[in-house]
Amino acid sequence: MRSLADLGELAGRRVLVRSDLNVPLDDGTITDDGRIRASAPTIRQLAAEGARVIVCSHLGRPRGVDPSLSLVPVGRRLAELLGHPVVQAQDVVGPSATAVVAALGDGAVALLENLRFEPGETASDAALSEPFADALAALCDLYVEDAFGAVHRAHASTVGVPARRPHAAGQLVQAEVAVLRRLTEHPQRPYVVVLGGSKVSDKLGVLDHLLTVADRILIGGGMCFTFLAAQGVEVGRSLVQRDRIADCQRVLAAAAERRVELLLPVDAVIADQADATATTEVVDITALPADRMGLDIGPRTVELFAGRLADARTVFWNGPMGVFELPPFAAGTQGVAEALAALQPTGAFTVVGGGDSAAAVRGLGLPETSFSHLSTGGGASLDFLEGARLPGLVALD
Ligand code: ADP
Ligand code: MG
Repeated sequence: MRSLADLGELAGRRVLVRSDLNVPLDDGTITDDGRIRASAPTIRQLAAEGARVIVCSHLGRPRGVDPSLSLVPVGRRLAELLGHPVVQAQDVVGPSATAVVAALGDGAVALLENLRFEPGETASDAALSEPFADALAALCDLYVEDAFGAVHRAHASTVGVPARRPHAAGQLVQAEVAVLRRLTEHPQRPYVVVLGGSKVSDKLGVLDHLLTVADRILIGGGMCFTFLAAQGVEVGRSLVQRDRIADCQRVLAAAAERRVELLLPVDAVIADQADATATTEVVDITALPADRMGLDIGPRTVELFAGRLADARTVFWNGPMGVFELPPFAAGTQGVAEALAALQPTGAFTVVGGGDSAAAVRGLGLPETSFSHLSTGGGASLDFLEGARLPGLVALD
């Protein structure tokens, strides 16, 4: 993968940087700016070298122009973090973007509007995606891919532009790929994987791969209930993907055969709904009432998981242990985060991947230095670990 240094003289060149500024928003307020922070170093470097920097990103999943998903608040935060003005275009490739880019001086930074305001960004129909990729490419001389969280998507901004312009990977993509390589090539053992999050269907592909490399797999979050159902445990109204029970049975059998330790929760925090004011109770995993749902791992499970993490040399964690967004169901995620943070002085290599997981960890107020790496890409890191060829990385070859 070529790096910024391979792009040659940058002064005066128009450089389109695909960043991942897809931050969580609550009524227009950024609730976690981790992805903006992670994107800043590449933008800062390009500006310092005199490039005319044109930043682009998606935000959320708008269908057409949606003012509630404008990048304007993100641009404001980016300018604060850079300590450098950011000129905001009012559209993606329209008259405003064209005028903003034409007026950019050397070392100046512009931000285009949300890429997904344009249907050509995500379209699989070439009649839509190709003209949009042409229009983006027309804005720039060089392309830099720094949106690690988007490299698993074959979109106009991740694949179409690098096919049209000299390109390189930015600092963030370089760093993320280096970390994930370390997880796939000769990880130090014991290698412990913690998986959670909502849907087991999102994690089955990576589980198949992890069964061949990990020593232990600890499963919490919503996804544990399909596994428990696969073992015949009564899980009440917990999140279960019935059509994936057979897959979970297959994973359980494969783990037993390969002697990979696969641990499921032994207790759960339950309630009658995912609500911040719900009455909660901790029950043994085999005593979940039919009319309640499991919304977090219980304290005995936290202890169990922490014990199986204590001697780890390598840890990959993806997916929160419970509905951490609501305080009554955040203790499991907090407990696992603390168990990982406790490994930091041992020199273990600990990686937290996933948008929600990284946001959860940052929200706990633990210093980022408690972990070896907080990845900005959820789907992208899972696809990478699964051994998939990521279109946005292939486009940089
Ligand atoms: P990531 O973005 O880190 O990859 P996911 O998107 O897979 O993680 O999952 C995050 C979501 O999983 C969170 O919104 C959280 O509320 C939800 N979740 C965790 N545990 C449960 C549970 N027991 N029941 C329902 N949802 C859950
Ligand atoms: Mg997520």
